Amino acid sequence: MSNAYFTIERPANDPFKGYLPGSPERAALKAELAKQSSEVVKIPLIIGGKEVWTEKTIQVTMPHDHDHVIAECCMAGEKELQMAIDSALAAKDAWEDMPWEHRSAIFLKAADHITNDYRPVLNASTMLGQSKTVFQAEIDIAELADFLRFGVWSVQEIFKDQPASSDGVWNRQDYRPLDGFICAISPFNFTSIGGNLPTAPVIMGNVSLWKPSRTAVLANYYYMKLLMECGLPAGVINFVPCTGTDMSKYVISHPKMAGFHFTGSTAVFQSVWKQVGENIASYANYPRLVGETGGKDFIFAHASADVEKLVAALIRGSFEYQGQKCSACSRAFIPASLWPEVEKQLEEKVAALKVGDVQEFDTFMAAVIDQASFNTCKAYLDRAIASPECEIVTGGTYDDSKGWFVQPTVIRCMDPHYESMVKEIFGPIVSVYVYDDDKLDETLEICDKASPYALTGAIFAQDRQAIVKMEHALRNASGNFYINDKCTGAVVGQQPFGGARASGTNDKAGTSLNMIRWVSAHSVKESFSPSAAINYPYMVEA
Ligand code: NAD
Repeated sequence: MSNAYFTIERPANDPFKGYLPGSPERAALKAELAKQSSEVVKIPLIIGGKEVWTEKTIQVTMPHDHDHVIAECCMAGEKELQMAIDSALAAKDAWEDMPWEHRSAIFLKAADHITNDYRPVLNASTMLGQSKTVFQAEIDIAELADFLRFGVWSVQEIFKDQPASSDGVWNRQDYRPLDGFICAISPFNFTSIGGNLPTAPVIMGNVSLWKPSRTAVLANYYYMKLLMECGLPAGVINFVPCTGTDMSKYVISHPKMAGFHFTGSTAVFQSVWKQVGENIASYANYPRLVGETGGKDFIFAHASADVEKLVAALIRGSFEYQGQKCSACSRAFIPASLWPEVEKQLEEKVAALKVGDVQEFDTFMAAVIDQASFNTCKAYLDRAIASPECEIVTGGTYDDSKGWFVQPTVIRCMDPHYESMVKEIFGPIVSVYVYDDDKLDETLEICDKASPYALTGAIFAQDRQAIVKMEHALRNASGNFYINDKCTGAVVGQQPFGGARASGTNDKAGTSLNMIRWVSAHSVKESFSPSAAINYPYMVEA
């Protein structure tokens, strides 16, 4: 074991590259995009450090060109999932006993590769597989490096927190990894979240099974390969693409599942929570359940708001990455006095956005992730077009002939409880409710109560009294709150991310609040000169 004493400095965020014409990063990315769009990568499972090939496979296509296959991925079934559990448990003791600085070195090394040579590979696979533009992929992959560096740093901060000792006594807290394995299930929309869910518990000394999303599996596979190249021991993370149903059936009810790390929809998290509840007596420990889930994120403008900046926030916040960020703005409250100007600017500026292929660098917005998402958006749009309670301000059209394209859409809703004002759609559709300027208090209450979610929210106002009032009224309506800024774009270490109510357990990914969920504290007291006395000094009759 190591006896070195050292500390890790608080990390800086991974810098974003510019991709300007003529830059080396632009040339490298273009070359990688050309390479990845002309091949079909065969993706195995990775169990116990070994590639496992199965007969059951799925095809991975580009959302903006849905007949173009870029990968074929093996799917785990009961046998492979059992192998993965056995491999994780077999790897546990050696991983747990590895000095933490050596464990940490693997992730710091991976972060350096993500900053440098692995950047084009991860960016290109995220762009092609998940239909992200250059900048959206860049911030995603920079966040992946941030999760690793801040994760390692958080471990040190947790370990440093030790109890008080008294004369002749040394108290210490042993932060043990959980007694079992972690099940990580990740969403499609961020390669960084996919990477973080199985890795954060592993940085704390746990072992995990990772079920990536089928629509993010190419970028997730490249990340898994990188970890192995950086020396992650066999079995510590087991990469098992499979159906959600198989994961539920064969992994989630396993007695040794000690923790569940999830990001995705509220419905899936609630179904897993229910399943865990039903099986509670059969687990070796009470499993830790950490889930970041759906949202109905808002921008609420006051009459004193700067309209041009408000409109920019509405457009970037609602339509970047096709509204498929969990933090994306999908409802807005605009005072009647500002609406004519806001409406005019939205019509002009949204119509100018280029919707298309991510390989064309002037594209602002690409396709939604898959046919199911396209169908959901289409159904919401068709109902809004037919509804007397709605008016389409801009957009409202869709086309799936080549890719899953939905035009950026603004719906004005006369009823603040209309379905698109309160339900998560997860596409490029924002619903607006125009309120009477003198009904600010009532409208704030509607914003707070109308939807079950509480993930992100933003207010726009220049009047400081109004800011105080709005912040107070909306305190529980989000986990991340913005004043005069869009509701997306949280940065690890700067705006710790997560929501409450139906939006999740709010354990703030990338911080020690999250990392501490993956340890079970063991309090140790050592007496240097234990007492031999049995009776106490007062025990005498005067
Ligand atoms: P999803 O819930 O459809 O899928 C997430 C993962 O769960 C996928 O890997 C999927 O295959 C798996 N899954 C599906 N059914 C399952 C089941 N029955 N049992 C076990 N696993 C199952 O979500 P998605 O479409 O990938 O992502 C979009 C959702 O994620 C949105 O609701 C969004 O708000 C949310 N999200 C939230 C955050 C956050 O931080 N709060 C971040 C990103 C995404």
